Amino acid sequence: MTTSRLDAGDRLLVQRCLACERWTYPEAARCSACGGELGVEPVSGDGTVFTFTVNHHPFHPTLPVPYVIAVVQLAEQDDLRVVGNIVGCAPEDVAVGMTVRAAFERHGDAVRQDFRKR
Ligand SMILES: [Zn+2]
Repeated sequence: MTTSRLDAGDRLLVQRCLACERWTYPEAARCSACGGELGVEPVSGDGTVFTFTVNHHPFHPTLPVPYVIAVVQLAEQDDLRVVGNIVGCAPEDVAVGMTVRAAFERHGDAVRQDFRKR
């Protein structure tokens, strides 16, 4: 889970400029476009795969390989891209341009956020 934050309703939260309304990711202190103050708002969670790689190296025992690490372009803004895993389909079925939606999986108090094919 490398995207910004989640709220109580399991929605992705991303910084947004209070002045010019541009979304900002990764997190920043000020808006990169106008220098304005940033707030945090939920996004739809809908996006498309911008690029991806298939990881075959086991970094952690709870993450069986292979798995897909993708850069997902969110629907809210052309250059709003976040990183996440693509789950629920075989790595060979993932393609650039594939439409995805944020998916959430609770583990006790923790929430894992990935993306699934729409
Ligand atoms: Zn701004």
